[in-house]
Amino acid sequence: MPKIIQYRNKCIGCGICYELQPELWRMSKKDGKASLIKATEKKYIYSREVHTSEEIKSREIARACPVKIIQVL
Ligand code: SF4
Repeated sequence: MPKIIQYRNKCIGCGICYELQPELWRMSKKDGKASLIKATEKKYIYSREVHTSEEIKSREIARACPVKIIQVL
């Protein structure tokens, strides 16, 4: 299964990931950054596996993120 990784501390809160894939992303009211739903966190790096059907969209979002902090493995 593909894995999404987000280096959340560098998020600038532009909202593109949430706009394109609201089923996986939320915008935090607390700090204005994007949160990957159901992700696990290790040293401010958030990650989770997603269904194969989400992979193409997730790669699009990784490319669209203006600060390039999303990776899909
Ligand atoms: S696209 Fe990138 S910078 Fe913009 S909210 Fe999502 S993670 Fe943050």
